[in-house]
Amino acid sequence: MKIQFIAILLLATTKTLYGQYGKSTSTHQQIVEQTDAIYDNLVKIRRDLHENPEVSTLEKRTSKIVAEYLRKLGLEVKTNVGGYGVVGTLKGGKKGRKIAWRADMDAIKTEEPDVVDFKSKNKGVRHICGHDVHTTIGLGIANILSQQKENLEGTVYFIFQPAEETFTGAKDMIKDGLFEIIKPDEIYGLHIVPEASGVINVKANELFAYQKSLEIKFKPGTNEKGLENFMNTILNSFVRTIKQEGSPWEIINKISDPKIGLTNKETIFNDYFILQGARLNTNNGVTFYKADFLETDVKKVNSIPLEIKKQILNSKYKDAFISIEYSKDYSGTPINDPKLTKISTKILRNRYNKDMVKQLYGQIPFFGEDFIFYQQKVPGVFFLLGGSNIQKGISSMPHTPNFAVDETTIKYGVQSFAALILERANSK
Ligand SMILES: [Zn+2]
Repeated sequence: MKIQFIAILLLATTKTLYGQYGKSTSTHQQIVEQTDAIYDNLVKIRRDLHENPEVSTLEKRTSKIVAEYLRKLGLEVKTNVGGYGVVGTLKGGKKGRKIAWRADMDAIKTEEPDVVDFKSKNKGVRHICGHDVHTTIGLGIANILSQQKENLEGTVYFIFQPAEETFTGAKDMIKDGLFEIIKPDEIYGLHIVPEASGVINVKANELFAYQKSLEIKFKPGTNEKGLENFMNTILNSFVRTIKQEGSPWEIINKISDPKIGLTNKETIFNDYFILQGARLNTNNGVTFYKADFLETDVKKVNSIPLEIKKQILNSKYKDAFISIEYSKDYSGTPINDPKLTKISTKILRNRYNKDMVKQLYGQIPFFGEDFIFYQQKVPGVFFLLGGSNIQKGISSMPHTPNFAVDETTIKYGVQSFAALILERANSK
């Protein structure tokens, strides 16, 4: 996950623990026991990955560990897909649906010291976005579903993706033929967030705000100061702020607030336009005006360039105008298939403590994910899994210096999503 500012600490306000299970089946009880049995080993794997973090596109060691683990489980494994991407295929005992699970593997450059005992040995690189945990959960799910092979109808694909932080890994894997190697009917994945360990957040459609970068070109010789002021006025007219004062990290700290945060229908994180930056530059005789913004409404994302063009063409700058376009091809937000979101929420709630699965409203600002590139090809759902523990002083706000994860979330993640995938694969 990419995040667009440096936050200090996020408070996880939810105090919940996995309690008694809901409607439990014997298969499900088995999954819980099998997960318990591999948990200590998964923690060891996670700590090893944490001690040996690798930045985007250089995940050589991590991908080797992943490929070896999957091979030992008996999966068909393909390596070096779109860089260090690994794809594992698990065929069930009978025919059924084909389900993909995606985990990302890369770490981040940071000079901030590690806050855990099993510190990064790779100077200047750390897992402060939880991808070591995502990778471990992916391996855990593969392990459990291999043990459940006889009960599995259909096929499960495991995608271990490099370079998520640079927004290039998913695209590169797809370009390298991912969907020729695998043909999933559905795809799922998760990211660690600062909710209590084990809490699963779900939301249909857009999970985050759209992140867009506009580039408008003008002919040289224009009054640059006047043009910049004119463009700034247009861009500022789109601003609809989040009704909360403060800097970005103060605002984002409120996402877990029960009154105004994402679990409340009346959340403040609904319907906003945040102008993140705008500037005018001249390069090789062409004047560029660039603006970066967050917008929640896709209709506005589509209409804003047309609206700006109209205003320029009605102004004294009309003869200087050359073009206007979005300079990046990603939207930044996962877009969850509404039907699959509903089905998977129901499955997760029936299998586990109902209160641990929370419906979200609004859209999280500043977060970005390249999972959307898979969802453009295959319907799927991206979940947010809590990794914080306020009693232990653990805050899992991605990209913050104090980022840490309560490792119990590995257990919750593995058992919840192994059960979900099994049920989806076996569904008619
Ligand atoms: Zn991330």
